[in-house]
Amino acid sequence: MNNSAQSTAPAQPEPLNRFVTDLARLYPEVIADLRRAEPMSQHTTFKVGGPAALYWNPSDINVLGRVMQLAVQAGIPLTLLGQGSNALVEDAGLPGLTIQLNEKLARLSCLSPAEAGTWLEQLRPGTAADSIRYDDSVIYVLAQSGCRLSQLAEFAAANSLSGLEFACGIPGSVGGAVFMNAGAYGYSLGDMITASRYIDTKPPCSLNCAVGGEHDFSYRHSLYEDNGAAVVEVLFCLQKGEQAEIRERMADYTARREASQPLEYPSAGSVFRRPVGYFAGKLIADAGLRGCRIGGAEVSRKHAGFIINVDHATADDVKALIRHIRETVYRLNGVDLQPEVRILGTPLSPAEPTGFDKGGGNRPAAWTVRHSAI
Ligand SMILES: Cc1cc2nc3c(=O)[nH]c(=O)nc-3n(C[C@H](O)[C@H](O)[C@H](O)COP(=O)(O)OP(=O)(O)OC[C@H]3O[C@@H](n4cnc5c(N)ncnc54)[C@H](O)[C@@H]3O)c2cc1C
Repeated sequence: MNNSAQSTAPAQPEPLNRFVTDLARLYPEVIADLRRAEPMSQHTTFKVGGPAALYWNPSDINVLGRVMQLAVQAGIPLTLLGQGSNALVEDAGLPGLTIQLNEKLARLSCLSPAEAGTWLEQLRPGTAADSIRYDDSVIYVLAQSGCRLSQLAEFAAANSLSGLEFACGIPGSVGGAVFMNAGAYGYSLGDMITASRYIDTKPPCSLNCAVGGEHDFSYRHSLYEDNGAAVVEVLFCLQKGEQAEIRERMADYTARREASQPLEYPSAGSVFRRPVGYFAGKLIADAGLRGCRIGGAEVSRKHAGFIINVDHATADDVKALIRHIRETVYRLNGVDLQPEVRILGTPLSPAEPTGFDKGGGNRPAAWTVRHSAI
């Protein structure tokens, strides 16, 4: 086992040590890859976050299921992570076992409608007839969850398949993007998803398959936000298209992102969900908060919906800035912005992490808010 940051390691409680002992006995190949006290700032695009008590990148879905079962039965908290591009990990880090699905579990393959139907029938007998489009204009892509969206979009383009162009610049994994129902430019990932396989986080942690409407997709929401399961494989239905046109659309989306987003800084993208009838970035900019800074966290001047890590920001800096933005926008516009970024781990202080007192009375004295000229 690797000990990557022993000096900052949180105390290893007895159940965790027992779990590691059991893992070593049952799955020695997992133990070789398991790390203790892994700094999550190295595994999130915000570059923020304390250590995960135990950290592991699985490479096999069946082994993942067995390890999850062992952890759940031992009462070990589980945290799932994809690319960590919509995650703010608390400074105190993550208790229990953090499982990050990345390039070790990132296989991609094309399936004809008939092959996709066979795949689905094996997992959910009786569902293919209503869920699979048996026509020549579509091809299915089966993607493991650790695959990056950019790789998936590139794979689709290389196979002249259209539908995922919008996703080429979203820096998440397939699993995280399904969880979030990630979207851009009027499209959402859920629009292209026929089925997904997942591992339950309730014993016996079995492999299941969700089909069509069972995903309960809506704006930045899916079934997985409710059931906490680990998405492991996703079946996308894509339209056959012209490769040159697909690549042109991808280039256009990329150029629009580069022009409007502060991609040169660590961030987690848009921090807030889009409020009905408004744009979060515009509300924040109109409130005069561009460049507003707490500690190492700053409201981007380029895109006010982004908080960027300009100088070794802590999770507490980011949360304090989120609170300040919410409070200011609420005071000026009456809109209560809701965070889209997922806050993972246990806060150092038990206060509501990013909430604020609508009466305006709970700003901690320790905050130093710096407003810079725009
Ligand atoms: C520069 C930038 C631009 C962005 N642009 C967009 C955009 O245009 N549109 C958009 O929607 N988002 C955008 N995002 C946010 C982010 O990329 C997406 O939300 C993405 O889908 C998150 O995927 P992830 O793998 O990084 O998930 P993570 O951040 O790793 O996790 C997010 C949530 O999903 C859960 N999760 C992760 N993997 C799994 C899994 N396999 N099974 C179950 N649960 C899982 C985690 O527990 C967590 O709650 C942007 C972010 C950045 C930094």
